[in-house]
Amino acid sequence: MAALPARRALLAAARRLRPGPGSLPGSLPAGRRLRSGSGAEALLRHLGRKLRATGPVTVAEYMREALTNPGQGYYTRRGGIGESGDFITSPEISQVFGELIGIWYISEWIATGKPKAFQLVELGPGRGTLTDDILRVFNQLSSLLSKCDVSIHLVEVSPKLSEIQALTLTGGKVQSNPEDESAYMKGVSKTGIPIFWYRDIQDVPPGYSFHLAHEFFDALPIHKFQKTERGWREVLVDIDPEVPDQLRFVLSPSSTPATENFIQPEETRDHVEVCPEAGVIIQRLACRIEKDGGAALVADYGHDGTKTDTFRGFRNHKLHDVLKAPGTADLTADVDFSYLRKMTQGRTATLGPIKQREFLKNMGIDLRLQVLLQNSGDAATHEQLLHSYDMLMNPEKMGDCFNFFALLPHHRLVHPDKKQKPESKSPIPPVAGFGELLLK
Ligand code: SAH
Repeated sequence: MAALPARRALLAAARRLRPGPGSLPGSLPAGRRLRSGSGAEALLRHLGRKLRATGPVTVAEYMREALTNPGQGYYTRRGGIGESGDFITSPEISQVFGELIGIWYISEWIATGKPKAFQLVELGPGRGTLTDDILRVFNQLSSLLSKCDVSIHLVEVSPKLSEIQALTLTGGKVQSNPEDESAYMKGVSKTGIPIFWYRDIQDVPPGYSFHLAHEFFDALPIHKFQKTERGWREVLVDIDPEVPDQLRFVLSPSSTPATENFIQPEETRDHVEVCPEAGVIIQRLACRIEKDGGAALVADYGHDGTKTDTFRGFRNHKLHDVLKAPGTADLTADVDFSYLRKMTQGRTATLGPIKQREFLKNMGIDLRLQVLLQNSGDAATHEQLLHSYDMLMNPEKMGDCFNFFALLPHHRLVHPDKKQKPESKSPIPPVAGFGELLLK
């Protein structure tokens, strides 16, 4: 593969990575007064009117408004990913990240007998950088893929970010509202691959698909629950009656439908976050993979059903009070992989979560780094390569807190011969990243 151009500068501190304390609902901290700022004020006014008229809302509803309100949501208006924004993500740190993910898809495509066509479906593509890096790998392996019909399908709600994606991937040559498609935009990649944009995974046409969700599930709205002496209560967001234009957390006076549905009888934690929207999307992915084949790769920070309060905000690479100036900061919560696994309802097999540094090591990041170091002449590029490697792999940075998790058809993990001939010697190819990478 080509040598790494000195393309992406690196940020010293990993902003969005710090598992900040969030605002503990047990202590019900007050939000802070708003400083002036037009977008934030408009959204706060809208929320204030709503809260005064109909009472407190769930954290999920608040998060949905703050992130994706059509006029004033954070992703709709700002979506500040990258060095000059609010948080940085792995694909923005190093192109090696996307290249190894591209190889993961190729390896799965080979392992499942090189189907004649596949769709790459990315959920929440941000600036389009990850898909761009994957497409470069596909282009470099074009002789291998020459007989395969590849198309790209991006699920994105933010008009602002979809514009940036179009620029990154097609140079801006796109057609909005194509009449013949369920897509809201379409174009052709710089390497000649058709690209379609949708608002919902349900709009993506059926077919053998490789799905990708990098830092997507952590942006979906969560419900929060607190155990009290009187039982489980839902954490809600309300307007502070004492201080104008200030939001605060309150607890529901009694249990809510959500507490009844989402808290398991065997729960031992005293604070729980649940993301039902993530559950619905995982169910849809699992159904699609069960029916049409393919795979899904989910990469995010998260836990396996053990963490409690992880809700936090980021603005200008610093932790930000989640109740302050909604719409101006990224809001996020750790992904509960045990919940995602449960929501596949056994329709697919799952692998992981495993730590990012293990996944990337299994994918051959060390070898790739060596090749890039050998190919790069100047000291600045050398240093940048080593820095970005450290950001992705260091357990104190992104190496340990980010995880990889995969959904695969059951038959991918069971040898077809084994049912009839348990003594069969030919092994099934291991799933790259979760095991050794074998490209044959
Ligand atoms: N994957 C990218 C961006 C992560 S930020 C990266 O790693 O750099 C989250 C992305 O999800 C943004 O593109 C945001 O606009 C999108 N997003 C958030 N909520 C969404 C929703 N409900 N449906 C579709 N996209 C959503």
